Amino acid sequence: MTNLSKTFKTGEMVSIPGRYECLTCKYGGTKTEVQLKQGVIFPMCQVNSIKDATWQLLGRDGASAR
Ligand SMILES: [Zn+2]
Repeated sequence: MTNLSKTFKTGEMVSIPGRYECLTCKYGGTKTEVQLKQGVIFPMCQVNSIKDATWQLLGRDGASAR
């Protein structure tokens, strides 16, 4: 368990700017990442044409800089 295991659905508003991965693609063996800014709406997954995709936060913008 990590504290980055937050998931979000298509249509929700992004409150944490960063990189997100489509979990449906992930479970299907495909890596689909998007970079989203705060205040935008989570998109559909373009890869599998999933209208109701689930996105998992991979890393916050700025938090990964060392
Ligand atoms: Zn996907």
